[in-house]
Amino acid sequence: MTAHDQYGLERWGMDLFAVLENGDLGLLDPERPDIAPVSLPAIVADLDQRGIAAPVVIRVQAFLRRQIAELNESFSTAISDSGYLGSYRAVFPIKVNQQADVVDRIIDDGRPWSVGLEAGSKAELVIALSRDLPDDALVVCNGVKDEQFVRLAITAHQVGISCVVVLESADELDVVLRVAERLGQRPLLGVRIKLTEKSSGAWASSSGDRSSFGVNASALMGIVEKLRAVDMLDCLVLQHSHVGSQIPNVDEIRSSVSEAARFFVALRNEGAPLTHLDLGGGLGVDYTGEQRSAEHSVDYTIAEYCINVVETVQHVMDDAGEPHPTLVTESGRATVASSSILVFDVLDATYYDRGEWIDHEPGDHELLSNIIRIHDYIDEGRLQECVSDAEHYRNELRENFRRGLLPLTQLARAEEAHLTVIRRVKKIAARAADVGGSLREILDAHVDIYHGNLSVFQSLPDTWAIDQIHPVAPIRRLDEVATRRAILSDTTCDSDGKIDRFVTAAGVETALPVHELVAGEHYHLGVFLVGAYQETLGDLHNLFGDTHVVTVGLTADGGYELLDDTEGDTVADVLSIVQYDPKACLDAYKKKVDGAVAIGRIKATERRDLISTYRRILGGYTYFEH
Ligand code: PLP
Repeated sequence: MTAHDQYGLERWGMDLFAVLENGDLGLLDPERPDIAPVSLPAIVADLDQRGIAAPVVIRVQAFLRRQIAELNESFSTAISDSGYLGSYRAVFPIKVNQQADVVDRIIDDGRPWSVGLEAGSKAELVIALSRDLPDDALVVCNGVKDEQFVRLAITAHQVGISCVVVLESADELDVVLRVAERLGQRPLLGVRIKLTEKSSGAWASSSGDRSSFGVNASALMGIVEKLRAVDMLDCLVLQHSHVGSQIPNVDEIRSSVSEAARFFVALRNEGAPLTHLDLGGGLGVDYTGEQRSAEHSVDYTIAEYCINVVETVQHVMDDAGEPHPTLVTESGRATVASSSILVFDVLDATYYDRGEWIDHEPGDHELLSNIIRIHDYIDEGRLQECVSDAEHYRNELRENFRRGLLPLTQLARAEEAHLTVIRRVKKIAARAADVGGSLREILDAHVDIYHGNLSVFQSLPDTWAIDQIHPVAPIRRLDEVATRRAILSDTTCDSDGKIDRFVTAAGVETALPVHELVAGEHYHLGVFLVGAYQETLGDLHNLFGDTHVVTVGLTADGGYELLDDTEGDTVADVLSIVQYDPKACLDAYKKKVDGAVAIGRIKATERRDLISTYRRILGGYTYFEH
């Protein structure tokens, strides 16, 4: 096995990465495969010199462009191969990554296919209406809407933007009718159907009947009748549905699309002149590269998704003798996930295989002697027994300490003796063919901890909130076998601030293969496929703020250009977000320093230094600075 295969890069890397001869991770330009890959560590080092230190999110423009092209071209191919007579329009759901640079690049790179936007709130609609969208791009308004939201959407249609108000509920229709009457306008309307088909995967519980959005068949009939009564059924041009994000299985896609298409036919039969069938999001990303129907993987490619959607709709329409509608999808995750990489440095490690060998000493507690004696009977056939014994005696000794019956020196020797047993068992287990069950669990509880300069809550919130798995790998030394195993902890003071499930060549594991840290050398890890949802769902736990973000273009000479750079939050920025006035904080501290000068606690000449330390922190990065 070559070293880089330890991370399963070839399986989840979507042909975007290569390992260079020097072991660096290289970024490939998917549009220009003949160009040499660009070294990611070289980019990180260069950014560092420019004052943009890790942690940093690196967005690669070519990766985003490739996804947009692949989605649109795959639909075109599926449409022409199957003889489908309608067309396809993509809309990007802004909520998946609202950053202006990302949204604008999607619009620009999507211009050949007139990619539009989906807005799920007033703020997102304000963004959508301000962008330079092609004339024939759609703006689809989902989400709960008040009068202002509806008013803005209807007036945008007046301006000439194809802005569709999707009715999420029967009540929303009353708001729409009221606003439309006041404005004297006939809006472009859509209706969101609550499909009965449930998705599996992470969003199963909020799909099907339990979905909080959309209308069921009886509410739908109510909407149709009301629109008919006010002579506005002809405003209904789009049908929307969304079964859930990250659908793992192509059969589920087919079933939900088929149900949506049946509703579409039925609505047309009721007299609604529907032209657009919007199938929402759901196109998944293969985070683990396993290519199977599982929570973090998918059993289909983008091309297979497209052909299944097209053929399913075609079949239902032909069966009903209806013309083929324009297909719309709102693929967020699949569009942006691969384009961002979070790079952070490892600050420090806690090793569990270092330490002193413990020998018997006079006066040792009997239970401590029992732990030391385990070494006399350790062998491959008794590993589980040895570990259980060591855990048992160590736990008893801890209990004694808690009751005040054991001195700290004996507890320290007990902890160390326990670790020497675990280390020996680990060594023997590494050679053993099959280590499973509770032994594996105990051994994995003693892998190294690598302390990363990041906040999981800010940069990888789904890792914490919904156990999302993102591939993680070192960006250098990939020509060198990683001999250690570690979990990652972050810089927040929260025990949940950790990553402990990883994609490796062997599948999903509870420890990441890592290299030994070298003194004086940075060890940077990359977290991949983080462009969707992570940037916007993050919070300010421990007041770690936004990281720096850069967008890079890969150049023909194997280099890169910096296309955009957004500085991460300073300490003053995050203080302001939680309603502290940084200047008032500084003034308050100054007063304390002056007070200390006044009573002679510090010299007047020290004042400037003390205050500038505080001021420097206020203006600095919230993360560890080297
Ligand atoms: N459209 C709607 C209405 C959604 O709720 C979502 C997300 O859940 C999406 C689109 C994007 O889904 P995905 O990222 O799976 O493509």
